[in-house]
Amino acid sequence: MRTIRTIQAFRTWRRQQDSRKTSLGFVPTMGALHAGHRSLIQRARETCETVVVSIFVNPLQFGPKEDYRHYPRDLIRDLKICEEERVDVVFAPQLAALFPLRFQTTVTVGVLSKRWEGESRPSHFQGVTTIVTKLLNLARPTHTFFGQKDYQQCVVIQQLVKDLELTTKIILCPTIRDTDGLALSSRNQYLTPLQRQQAKLLYQALSAGKQAIAKGKYTNKDICQTMHRVVNTHHGISVDYLVCCDAMTLEPLKQVEGKVVLLGAIRLGKVRLIDNLLVRVRH
Ligand code: AMP
Repeated sequence: MRTIRTIQAFRTWRRQQDSRKTSLGFVPTMGALHAGHRSLIQRARETCETVVVSIFVNPLQFGPKEDYRHYPRDLIRDLKICEEERVDVVFAPQLAALFPLRFQTTVTVGVLSKRWEGESRPSHFQGVTTIVTKLLNLARPTHTFFGQKDYQQCVVIQQLVKDLELTTKIILCPTIRDTDGLALSSRNQYLTPLQRQQAKLLYQALSAGKQAIAKGKYTNKDICQTMHRVVNTHHGISVDYLVCCDAMTLEPLKQVEGKVVLLGAIRLGKVRLIDNLLVRVRH
């Protein structure tokens, strides 16, 4: 495995791959790798001849009051995990390499970025789409792997790829969960033991929504009430949103039908957790 830390060296390596004409799988991450990231790398390894993982904590996607400075960073441990997963190249650029002084261009996806996560974190998706565009331009992958855990992010990136005629194929990989259902996340380590207990309620709320649909409840009101009921009785949890939407447009549905996504975000103290479940509804 090679670790590349400069843009110039990464470009040189990438140019050498052109003559090989092989499939190149790309897994963009912010490091602090866990089993969720591993599953993306494994899928890339199964799908493509060459696998590149990027590790870069992207300041543009953090709000002014968010945890950019304290976000967990452990490159040595991350490199060990990448080595175990037989990654070919880790691209881990320095901040100033990707965002030099006087950097001033951003990439914005419209309506899809404004809803849900966009309401709580106004510049978040612009930060994501700007860095993803840069990384895709550098890596020029045939396939790029994202986790369903960040479902809205996947939909926004699909739109970006379509609108800007990017040629990579986006592969959506399932959410990896702890035994009690909590989706793995680098931010779970911020939870106190009590908050960790309560964190599973997010998955339980979404599962209750899914069950309600399975039992024939098709109105948004019924499904949202069911999801809210799971968390409402618990102290210390506030709900940012628990909603039932069209899986493509992310618009709330009055009457659920077709491919539906249940999206949720809750706050436990200073920690904000997101999760989702996809449901296919046939009346
Ligand atoms: P991050 O390092 O948080 O930016 O995440 C990098 C990639 O890993 C994104 O595509 C995430 O959606 C994905 N990811 C994070 N957590 C999980 C998880 N629990 N299961 C599957 N994919 C995940």
